[in-house]
Amino acid sequence: MATTITTDCIQCGACLPECPNEAISEGAESFQIDPARCTECVGFHEKEACQAVCPAECCVPDPSRPETEALLAARAIALHPGDAALRARLGSGSFPSRFRAN
Ligand code: SF4
Ligand code: SF4
Repeated sequence: MATTITTDCIQCGACLPECPNEAISEGAESFQIDPARCTECVGFHEKEACQAVCPAECCVPDPSRPETEALLAARAIALHPGDAALRARLGSGSFPSRFRAN
């Protein structure tokens, strides 16, 4: 389930530098997330980094894009082919993921 940004976005820009996948960009009326680059922060953080800093609470799961943790982990590797540490984390099965956080 890729994360999406709702129209409640106040364009503060806080989320932009937090994304490990450079999935966020500034749109005309709100910031936006490229779903092909969003991994819900699987492999990097225990919670969606954009959601964690958003003052408007407008970074939310997109129910129209249900995705498994395995798919998101594979996307993370595809987006960071040279990141050996990420590959090792994901390969070990011990990695941060919103699917595992309490
Ligand atoms: S959930 Fe994570 S990967 Fe997806 S847009 Fe937000 S910060 Fe980027
Ligand atoms: S942190 Fe939230 S309000 Fe600020 S630009 Fe990102 S989505 Fe919009």
